[in-house]
Amino acid sequence: MRDIAYIALVSNLGDRAEYLALARRRLAALPGSRLLDASSIEETEAVGNVPQGPYLNQMVALETTLSSHALLDALHAIEHEAGRERTVPWGPRTLDLDIVMFEAQTISDPDLTVPHLELPHRDFWQRGIAELKGKERG
Ligand code: ATP
Ligand code: CA
Ligand code: CA
Repeated sequence: MRDIAYIALVSNLGDRAEYLALARRRLAALPGSRLLDASSIEETEAVGNVPQGPYLNQMVALETTLSSHALLDALHAIEHEAGRERTVPWGPRTLDLDIVMFEAQTISDPDLTVPHLELPHRDFWQRGIAELKGKERG
């Protein structure tokens, strides 16, 4: 089935803008997929107890025929290519890719919940999605 995934890109280590660009290139090249659009990039301060630098955030719309789990696997592979290491939970990362929402599907599996549970708490995700949907309508 064909759906549109709204995917959050985030980086707060190294060349942050280049990690976002790498993610956009890799997403655009996924099988059965087309990168429809990307939001403006927004900087946010890190929250929580781990001291770390500010985050660069971007939302993209990806039209894809990949299943939700195939897409999640692909996101993990791109994070891996970007050298992401999972050391501290919510710690600094070169690249994190989350499926925030699908246009048509909801998923509630042990390893994948869509819409993402943090969506109601992250204004910048909501702004990113609103920006992309606004552009769609022209
Ligand atoms: P947060 O969820 O608060 O943004 P995080 O992104 O830092 O935290 P990760 O370590 O990147 O957390 O992800 C942990 C696991 O979350 C992933 O391995 C994945 O299986 C699971 N997960 C559940 N729902 C989603 C989703 N919608 N998008 C991406 N990963 C998800
Ligand atoms: Ca995340
Ligand atoms: Ca993640």
